Amino acid sequence: MDSPPTATSLYVHVPFCAQKCEYCAFYSTTADGELVNRYVDALTLEVGRLVTKGYSRPQTVFFGGGTPSLLNLRQWERVFAAFDRAGWLGAAEWTIECNPATVSVEKARVLRAHGVNRVSMGVQSVDDELLDRLGRVHSRDMVFRSFDALRGAGFNSINMDLMFGIPGQSMDTWRNTLREILALGSEHLSCYEVIYEEDTPLFEKLKAGRFEVDDDLSSEMFEALVDAAATAGYTQYEVANFGRWSRAGTSGASTADTGPGTGLEIPPGVPTFACRHNVNYWQGGDYVALGPSASGFEKGVRYRNVASTQAYCEAVEKEQSPRDWSESLSALARAGEIAAFGLRMNVGWRWKDFFRATGFDLRDQWESEMLALVAKGWATLDADGFRLTRQGLRFADDAGSEFLRPEAPLYTANPSSYVAASWQSR
Ligand code: SF4
Repeated sequence: MDSPPTATSLYVHVPFCAQKCEYCAFYSTTADGELVNRYVDALTLEVGRLVTKGYSRPQTVFFGGGTPSLLNLRQWERVFAAFDRAGWLGAAEWTIECNPATVSVEKARVLRAHGVNRVSMGVQSVDDELLDRLGRVHSRDMVFRSFDALRGAGFNSINMDLMFGIPGQSMDTWRNTLREILALGSEHLSCYEVIYEEDTPLFEKLKAGRFEVDDDLSSEMFEALVDAAATAGYTQYEVANFGRWSRAGTSGASTADTGPGTGLEIPPGVPTFACRHNVNYWQGGDYVALGPSASGFEKGVRYRNVASTQAYCEAVEKEQSPRDWSESLSALARAGEIAAFGLRMNVGWRWKDFFRATGFDLRDQWESEMLALVAKGWATLDADGFRLTRQGLRFADDAGSEFLRPEAPLYTANPSSYVAASWQSR
């Protein structure tokens, strides 16, 4: 008999934005009231169905997008009511992504009152000219106002998302953004270099020669970030993620004996305010996905929901699966992926944790790859495990690709609609 389904982590994609940012390749559309209501109905139906299938309350919940904070209070109340009926309120970590233009004091209070305990704010920059260039709807003033509203509502775990390598961004502007944001004292920082995704307006402008990419400057910005975050008391625990420690200085590793992949525990050396939801991704844990275009991974099967809000709603309303693609990987191929994801974390892999997560020993399967990375100065290994160096972390995707074991999946459904799985680390 099959073991009951688990829902260690739940990702919910909210596919609406006030307008499309210049660089964005995530699936989202502008919000149309009727469609948003239909989407909320579909979401609540899906939650109910997961409960009927035996899913228990997830330990981490992450509403990403899109712009989840675009849902109005009535729509949030319906989402919370569905979670309440499911017995899913009270997840240990519940994150909602917010755009600074859509955070009000009242909304922040309602979210907090229903158990949302972490907010990830899409700041990107505090320079109005750069925000405008990125097509963001918010201004620098809104960043500070929203931050105060969240603190006033009782949020003591806030992530600030920043971007560097923005066309026209100078080192001075970047240092200024870092200085102002670090001074706020949020518990977490995520900082990503601008990526030029095909089919985005920013990519078209790059192709048209409207600006040039300066990789050296981006590298310097990354180095400045790592140094400034460390000086401000943050610990880098993943290539792009930095967290603070709780006042007690504990690592949160007290639950580590449950092993990686169970969602809540974090390995020693990872700060208390690390995003446990994302740590679960990087450590190869299962996660359920709801909403159009959301990707999930459960019991060896990777899947993606259809990237259309109408099609998603229609499928759910007809009690059909909204998945438009799924793939089952062999255990070794999946272990290679998990190795690559996990190496994005500064602590890398302890031999025993990797074995517990995958059933494979890194030293048996990937010895030559690890030694080659050590010889390049990109990694170190010792009696406990293997990790990337500061230099290696800068090239974590290249280093991680050495561990992939491309092979035919055990099965693939609807391969034509597959869009390369993103790291989904947001
Ligand atoms: S707010 Fe986020 S999801 Fe929406 S368009 Fe901008 S980057 Fe994309």
